[in-house]
Amino acid sequence: KTATEQGAVVVNYMPVTALIKRSGFVKGVIAHDLEADREYHLKAKVVINATGPFTDSVRKMDDTQITPMIAHSQGVHIVLDKKFLPGDSAIMVPHTDDGRVLFAIPWHNKVLVGTTDTPLEDCPIEPKPLPEEIDFLLEHAARYLTTDPTKKDVLSMFAGVRPLVSNPDAENTAAISREHVVNISKSGLVTIAGGKWTTYRKMAEDTLEQAILIGDLEYKPCLTEDLQLHGFHKHIENFGDLGMYGADAIEIQGLAKKTPALKEKLHPQLSTIEAEVVWAVQEEMALTVADFLSRRSRSLLLNAKASVEMAPVVAELMMKELNKNKKWKKEQIKKYEELAGNYIL
Ligand SMILES: Cc1cc2nc3c(=O)[nH]c(=O)nc-3n(C[C@H](O)[C@H](O)[C@H](O)COP(=O)(O)OP(=O)(O)OC[C@H]3O[C@@H](n4cnc5c(N)ncnc54)[C@H](O)[C@@H]3O)c2cc1C
Repeated sequence: KTATEQGAVVVNYMPVTALIKRSGFVKGVIAHDLEADREYHLKAKVVINATGPFTDSVRKMDDTQITPMIAHSQGVHIVLDKKFLPGDSAIMVPHTDDGRVLFAIPWHNKVLVGTTDTPLEDCPIEPKPLPEEIDFLLEHAARYLTTDPTKKDVLSMFAGVRPLVSNPDAENTAAISREHVVNISKSGLVTIAGGKWTTYRKMAEDTLEQAILIGDLEYKPCLTEDLQLHGFHKHIENFGDLGMYGADAIEIQGLAKKTPALKEKLHPQLSTIEAEVVWAVQEEMALTVADFLSRRSRSLLLNAKASVEMAPVVAELMMKELNKNKKWKKEQIKKYEELAGNYIL
């Protein structure tokens, strides 16, 4: 949303499948609109590859012979009831007895416990926790939490893939820091890889500096350092459970005021209300039940079984908003149940 406010056009469900090249230089991308099943040829002065764990797959579209930049490492988290860590303080264990880092953090009225560090050969689309990763988290968390958690206490488990970056070619690398690498290929593809959520503004600055040079763009100072993200609000505590939306909470409250049925909670064990589904479709580009339950609200990650029970109402609301039919609704619920199975222990 912040990018849109700054003039960007953002699209989802539209993967880049190839790069357009002219005289050996990258001059755009070919992207596949999965919704309309249509291909687009998008021309650009400069193309930036910021695809996280998928970085090397896009670099291979440029040059099949590249040296990989990314090593994949899986990290698993589990979510427990708040009773295991009452209060607002987190626990951080910098060195477990086998030298790993462990933390337990209060998160949306639950407790998030992480994480692991398991090397992976490739980057799966839907990474899955290994039994030994869950055992490690439960065994070590038990030493620090109020009561010992067991497998049946796990409300949700999930895995992510960290893109650990190495510098593939020092000569062609425009900017290197301990955290991230900006790489310029011979044909001018700008790749930003590595880094952390906490360093994204610095990553953006370093990347844009290179993109301006490569694309011969008009120089403008990067705004990110002082830019407030969309929804910035000084008193999010005023909005209760909707506080995570920042200033957008006012709009969501407005939807619920206009249609009082939308004030209904979607599940007794989670705070999410129906108005959030309508908001996600109208304002946050949610197109599937999984978009809402996993990537707009955090229901799947907070309580996977509860999220499955929410799916039919979410699908009904989305069907109306997106003007879809009963067949779509049924398929969405089925697909969602399959996905959620990976998050239930
Ligand atoms: C387990 C784990 C724990 C972490 N802990 C922390 C932490 O404590 N603190 C911290 O700061 N950071 C942490 N991180 C790192 C943080 O999550 C990442 O740095 C951040 O998500 C990277 O964002 P990104 O936008 O670069 O990549 P991503 O969020 O991975 O986004 C890449 C995007 O590219 C898209 N994409 C891929 N291929 C294509 C294509 N061909 N065409 C179009 N789009 C494509 C994908 O769909 C995706 O949306 C952690 C990561 C993991 C996995």
